[in-house]
Amino acid sequence: MPGMEFFGAAERKEINDVLETGILFRYNHEAQRNNIYKAREFEAEVAKLVGAQYAHAVSSGSTAVLCALAAAGIGAGDEVIVPPFTYIATVEAVLMAGALPVFADIDDTICLSADGIRKAITPKTKAVCLVHMCGQMADMDAIMAVINEHNLVLVEDAGQAMGASYKGVYTGLWGKTGAYSFDFFKIATAGEGGIMVTNDETAYKHADSYSDHGHDHIGSNRGMEQHPVMGFNYRISELHAAVGLVQTRRVPEIIQNNNRHKKQLMSTLGQVPGVSFARIPDANGDSATFLNLLLPDTETAGRFVAELNAAGVGGFNYWFTNMYHFINQWNHLKDMKTAAALPIEKFGAPQDYHNLDIPNAQAVVGRLVSFGIRATWTSEEVAALAKNIEAAARKATLVEA
Ligand SMILES: *Cc1c(COP(=O)(O)O)cnc(C)c1O
Repeated sequence: MPGMEFFGAAERKEINDVLETGILFRYNHEAQRNNIYKAREFEAEVAKLVGAQYAHAVSSGSTAVLCALAAAGIGAGDEVIVPPFTYIATVEAVLMAGALPVFADIDDTICLSADGIRKAITPKTKAVCLVHMCGQMADMDAIMAVINEHNLVLVEDAGQAMGASYKGVYTGLWGKTGAYSFDFFKIATAGEGGIMVTNDETAYKHADSYSDHGHDHIGSNRGMEQHPVMGFNYRISELHAAVGLVQTRRVPEIIQNNNRHKKQLMSTLGQVPGVSFARIPDANGDSATFLNLLLPDTETAGRFVAELNAAGVGGFNYWFTNMYHFINQWNHLKDMKTAAALPIEKFGAPQDYHNLDIPNAQAVVGRLVSFGIRATWTSEEVAALAKNIEAAARKATLVEA
């Protein structure tokens, strides 16, 4: 979670630019704003970082995924293949779009697999919402083959993988539209915020209007603008955009530091019997926000977590039991507990969410323990952590006499 490690003079300066004018709104007010447009600059910085033709900033990563879906033409009644291991916002965005989530299996990349997607396809499948988990990336050659073979729309939730790439193409830009999160825990933070990216002009224009009550943002008289499509308010404020702008500039250096630390950890822990790593399809494209360890089985992973806790080693996530990252804990979804009826309750769920056939997800997530990597660590701190992890792993993997 490096973004939050950095908050300094540069962030304060950009916020101050906005405070000097008092124009906290991203549009209009040309006479008062002294040419300060932080949301626009934020978008340009993200587009430059990942090589996107278009970037559109919104209020959160969750609303960025929703905008990405809507802009890709995904809506009411469409079946959308999603992973059972993701931050739950992916699934919520599909539901809020009126679409129907179909859970497919993952593999040791900890992302949806091409095989998993292929098995979940029905005649009603319209899209795949692929999630790049824990700073890494999905196996894109295999995924693109199944997407193209079945003529599916690809939308990427790269909320956890901004700056990660596969064979030189950044996550978020493989499909029609993509989304990044700038919440407080991501590689770059705006406090709250998100960015939708695309190389498709129409999709960009739809996202731009959809996220602001349909406004086409042409001209300088807001009340008289045309509204090409229906929308809602998912705007970002200038204050949040000011922080996101600076943090995006920090990402290349954060990724460099993260990778140095992750390589050091992997070279030490790779020697420990019983410890392996989630597969990284392109190691050169890792954003390395997490070290993703795999233990031999779920039981051993449980013992490993207990040993870490007993030794007071923090900074890791055991997603298998996490309430917000794995389907085993999503009873509110399985029981369709809603504040008010969602479209899926009228269309009918496309799967029995209580009885999903996702054996790899159960096995892989059960074995997975992810350590958040801090960009500001010293190599001594990394070495100390490696030692602590090794000690816990050796105790957990000891066969009982
Ligand atoms: C963080 C995250 C989101 C949601 O982002 P917010 O900015 O917190 O709304 C969506 N998808 C994934 C995969 C995430 O990790």
